Amino acid sequence: MSSSEKPVRTRFAPSPTGFLHVGGIRTALFGWLVAHQAGGQFILRLEDTDKAREVAGADEHIIKSLRALGLDYDEGPDKGGPYAPYRQSQRLDSYKAWAQKLIDAGRAYGDPLSPAEVQALRDRARAAKKPFLYRDYRPANPPAWDGARPLRFKSEPKAYKWHDEVMGDLSTGPEVIDDFILIKSDGYPTYNFAHIVDDAEMKISHVIRGQEFLASVPNYLNLYEALGLERPRLATMPHILGPDGNKKLSKRDGAKDVLDYIRDGYLPDALVNFIASLGWNDGSEQEIFSREELIKKFSLSHVQKSGARFDERRLEWMNGHYIRQMGVEQLSDLLNKSPNDYWGKGKSAEPTYKKAVLAQVIDRLKYLSELPQLTGFFFTKPSNQSVRQLYEAPEDRLLKDMPKGQMGSLLKAASQKLHTSQFDPDNLQACLNSLLEELETKPGVLFPIIRIALSGAQSTPSLPGVLSVLGKSESLARMASAEKILES
Ligand code: GLU
Repeated sequence: MSSSEKPVRTRFAPSPTGFLHVGGIRTALFGWLVAHQAGGQFILRLEDTDKAREVAGADEHIIKSLRALGLDYDEGPDKGGPYAPYRQSQRLDSYKAWAQKLIDAGRAYGDPLSPAEVQALRDRARAAKKPFLYRDYRPANPPAWDGARPLRFKSEPKAYKWHDEVMGDLSTGPEVIDDFILIKSDGYPTYNFAHIVDDAEMKISHVIRGQEFLASVPNYLNLYEALGLERPRLATMPHILGPDGNKKLSKRDGAKDVLDYIRDGYLPDALVNFIASLGWNDGSEQEIFSREELIKKFSLSHVQKSGARFDERRLEWMNGHYIRQMGVEQLSDLLNKSPNDYWGKGKSAEPTYKKAVLAQVIDRLKYLSELPQLTGFFFTKPSNQSVRQLYEAPEDRLLKDMPKGQMGSLLKAASQKLHTSQFDPDNLQACLNSLLEELETKPGVLFPIIRIALSGAQSTPSLPGVLSVLGKSESLARMASAEKILES
C-alpha cells in the first residue's frame, strides 16, 4: 500500500516546554481537520525527551488548551490507544530496539568525541568558512556503543527529491546529509530519531509541522531508508508573521497563550476559524467558516507557502462576528455558565436587566472581558469625578471650547424635555430629534453632554438605547446630578 492510500492518522506532537501559542495550535488544528475530513484519527503525542527544556505543568496546559478549543483527540497520553504510551519518555525501549537494528546493520555508531571536541571541530570549520559536517570526522573504528556516549546515525549522503504537501516539490544535494545524534548521552533519543520511530509505530499518515524542521527533512529521508520505513506524507506550515507581515510573530503582536484568549472571552469557534485562516483559505473570499465547513473545505494544498500574517484586530473582528451570531439569549446563557465572571459590577443584577444591557452592547462587543468596561455604568452611577473630568476636558471637537454654564443649560433643557417622554427607544429618538430643533443645536454638541451625564464615558451605545435601559427616573437623576456638577 502506498502512503497515499494509508488510513489517515495525523498527530500533534508538542514538546512540553512552555505554553501553547497560536503556531502550535494551528499545527494541531490542521492535523485535526485532515483527520476529521477523512474520518481518520487525530493523535496527541507528548515529546518530552529534552529534559533540560521541559517546563513543569506544560503537558496539562497543552491538554487543557486543546480541550478548550474543542480539538479532541482519539488517542493520547491521558486517553490511551492501540499504540500507547503516547509520551516519549515512556517509550525508551522502543527507541533502543530500533537503535539496535541500526547498530546491527552497521548504520549507527558510538560517538567517541565529547561535546566540547565536537564544538571545537565546528568552530574550526566556521573559522575556515567551511560548512561543518560531522561525517567528515567519522571515526574509522568507532567504540562500541555503551549508552554513556551519544549514538550517531551513519548516514549515506545522496541527493533527494520529495514532495511536501504545502511547499511543493523540493530537492537537496548530498551535502546536507550528516551523521546526526540518535540517542543522547543521557539515554533519551533526539527529536530527529524519536519522531520517526513513533510516527512509524503509530502508523501516522501525515506529518504536519513547523518550518523549523524543513532543513532536516533530507536527513530524515536518509533515516527512513536505513530503517526500511516508508515515509509518511510531509506538510510544512508557513511561519506566522506579525501584523506588518515582515518579522516573526512576537508576544508584542498579541501572540498570547491560547488559554489567555479563552479567558479574555474569545469564543472557541472564532479562535478556530481565525487560526485556520492563518495561511489557509479555500480559494474564495470567504472568511467565516464554521467548524463543519472547515472540515469539509480544508485542504493542505491550499495552505500558502509564504508567511501568514497574525493580526489581532482581525481576530477581534471575527470574535465580534461570532458573538453577534449567537445573539443576546445565547450569549447571556454562555455568560451565566462561564466559570469566569465577565459581568463585573453587573454580576448580581436582574437577569432581564442584564439581557437588556447585552442587547445594547452586543454590536460593539469584541471579546467578553470587555463587558465590565462597556457596561459598568448601566449598573452603577458614574462617579462625580469622572463626569467632571469629561466636562472639563471633553474629547468631542464641538464641545471643547464650550463654557460649562452653556453645557449646563443644554443639559437642563434636555432633562425638561425628557420628563415628557415615555422612555421607549422610538419615542426617545423622536424626543431627542425635536430637542435638537428646539435648541437649534447639533447632535455632536448635545448628545455628548447627555452621554457624559448618564455614563461618565465618552462613548456608549446609542443614546435612546442607553436612556431606555437605564429608565426614566435613573436617567433623570443622573442628569440632575450632572447639572449640579456643571453649575459648580
Ligand atoms: N516536538 C516538536 C515540537 O514541539 C514537534 C515537531 C513535530 O510535530 O514533529 O516542536
